[in-house]
Amino acid sequence: MSDNLDRILAANADYSADFGDKSELAMPPARKLAILTCMDARLDPAKFAGLEEGDAHVIRNAGGRASDDAIRSLVISHKLLGTNEWYVVHHTDCGMETFTDPIMRDLLAGSLETATIDENGWRNEGSGPGSKEADQIAWLTIADLAQSVRDDVDRIKSHPLVNKSIPVRGYIYDCKSGRLEEVN
Ligand SMILES: [Zn+2]
Repeated sequence: MSDNLDRILAANADYSADFGDKSELAMPPARKLAILTCMDARLDPAKFAGLEEGDAHVIRNAGGRASDDAIRSLVISHKLLGTNEWYVVHHTDCGMETFTDPIMRDLLAGSLETATIDENGWRNEGSGPGSKEADQIAWLTIADLAQSVRDDVDRIKSHPLVNKSIPVRGYIYDCKSGRLEEVN
């Protein structure tokens, strides 16, 4: 943990020392686009989509799902900050394909420690107690990758607070090639 903290602070010192004209960036995204994508550590939207600071809103959560909170951010992104082009990007080998709501609820009911996965699926190795609070959360897991992209694009497009003039495109990012493939 402290090794990470030292590395973060050292990297930040370097970054801020060379901050340059980024101090002049405006709050509204210069390229007027927003990307909703997964938190997966292998995905770097700035790199895979060629974004610089100030260019775009990037909204991330587990799966890149169009949750209520993701939609809250997208609505703010357009209504107050002017983005008018949105992309939903899910990806191959997503962790959200490896479990279901009942599996997650059962795991968390048993223990809050990190679980492990093998050919038989997820299991607890840590000790309890757990919590039944997991029953109250929709975990937004993914059973079919292309369909999850379509579902999220549809949910965003049909949301009553979303301006119908905003194009919403869906993509799958391939973790083996770094390539984006459109989902229609
Ligand atoms: Zn993912």
